Amino acid sequence: MDKWHLWINGKWEEAEKYEPLHAPHTGEEIALIAQATPEDAKKAIEGAHGAFQEFKRLPAHERSRILLKATQLLEQRKEEAARIIATEAAKPIKAARTEIVRTIQTYQFAGEEAKRIYGERIPMDAAIGGENRVGFTMRVPQGVVSAITPFNFPFNLVAHKVGPAIAAGNAIVLKPAEKTPLSSLFLAELFQEAGLPAGVLNIIPGLGPELGPILETHPYVKNITFTGSPKVGKEIRKLAEFRKVTLELGSNSALIVDEGIDVDSIMDRVVEGAFSYNGQVCISIQRIYVHHSLYETFLERMIARTKQLVIGSPFDENTDITAVITKDSLERLATWISEAVGLGAKVVYGGDVDGQIMTPAILTDVLHQAKVIQEEVFGPIVSVMPFEHIEDAIRLVNDSRYGLNAGAYTRDINRAFACVNQIETGGVLINDIPTFRLDHMPYGGIKDSGTGREGVRFAMMDMMEEKFVSFHWDSK
Ligand code: NAD
Repeated sequence: MDKWHLWINGKWEEAEKYEPLHAPHTGEEIALIAQATPEDAKKAIEGAHGAFQEFKRLPAHERSRILLKATQLLEQRKEEAARIIATEAAKPIKAARTEIVRTIQTYQFAGEEAKRIYGERIPMDAAIGGENRVGFTMRVPQGVVSAITPFNFPFNLVAHKVGPAIAAGNAIVLKPAEKTPLSSLFLAELFQEAGLPAGVLNIIPGLGPELGPILETHPYVKNITFTGSPKVGKEIRKLAEFRKVTLELGSNSALIVDEGIDVDSIMDRVVEGAFSYNGQVCISIQRIYVHHSLYETFLERMIARTKQLVIGSPFDENTDITAVITKDSLERLATWISEAVGLGAKVVYGGDVDGQIMTPAILTDVLHQAKVIQEEVFGPIVSVMPFEHIEDAIRLVNDSRYGLNAGAYTRDINRAFACVNQIETGGVLINDIPTFRLDHMPYGGIKDSGTGREGVRFAMMDMMEEKFVSFHWDSK
């Protein structure tokens, strides 16, 4: 079995403790993973701070070259990388391959954006007393970025932090999710081979609650970028004090399907948005509000399409549905279905449990106060509700503590703009599912879905300081 150490200062460092990593699908032990202590995290932060002193002087074209070289290396090893995701996250191999294609693009965007860091010229003489001056802004790197990542896109969501941090000239300490450390550890030698100086990227697997405090409060840490659950996001925010913080948190994303929509033409997308990777996607479709004129047809087609999903091993080329990430998660999902049923909901399809797998569940007659509506499900459960007027659907979409993405299919331009103007989320996708994301789109939430934006250039903006310079020349 592979034994993985800590990657600190460009070297593998032995840890005091190692934990076995289990494949969710088989329960089999797949690797032994070093567990960083707060002391190790401190060493990584200090190493990153030291490396930053040189790295911040590296020209943009060099940072760009390193990132683009890393994309080439990842391209060469893409099947190996996809199989790591399938093994440790039980992500179906076809979805894992898609994630790697996206990851390559994310690093490519970072390589390109490294060359496009601009400032702004300020017309100083617009103010009385500003004559004979040139004013301009510069964007400068901040220093050490602490990056804490979740299990569900273990390559691409890491790329959304590592790529922009390197492009902006920062150093990084990355703490991957306990369940998916291999996808991050894979990057250590990849970036070394790409020419990234030692210490710029440090990778320290370990327990979030143990490592969080030092990663969020060490004086050398200038920026914290976190993707994960709202509960942890809140704790980070409290500890971060004046540091810049990006929080990409959860959601209960909704989709509106208005009257006049050809249900058959959107059903593949809807089912994909609801159940891809067992719904363990932050913008997975959780609530669907369908115009009453289409409701019966929509449900019938959705059930028929969902029945076609293939349940199986993540390594089978045809698999759509696999084991959910943990037993605890499965138990929670089953309890939430029971709670909804207790409030009057009907399970019109799925919801059966076999081992660590839940068949995709479609619920109707769900009360708005049920947990499957109010909270983030993060599993293969979707609720489908009818509506009469688009304003009612919009009100229900908004009546939520979350606000990440929402989608609306409509043929009516006025209703499309009603959605655009009135829906309270970070992103509104017209004639698409809320699960749609490209890696250069600005992406992030409002309310309990977080603060700040990713989407390479937008993440970079949060990882740099805007420095103002005034240059006074002798008027004679
Ligand atoms: P999680 O919050 O349990 O864990 C995420 C990371 O936080 C892990 O690395 C974990 O070790 C760490 N962590 C745990 N406790 C911590 C603490 N006290 N201090 C610091 N770090 C701590 O989330 P998860 O189960 O891995 O992922 C699922 C969540 O992530 C869902 O809520 C999902 O919506 C969210 N998510 C959001 C986005 C987005 O872009 N908005 C994308 C993917 C996932």
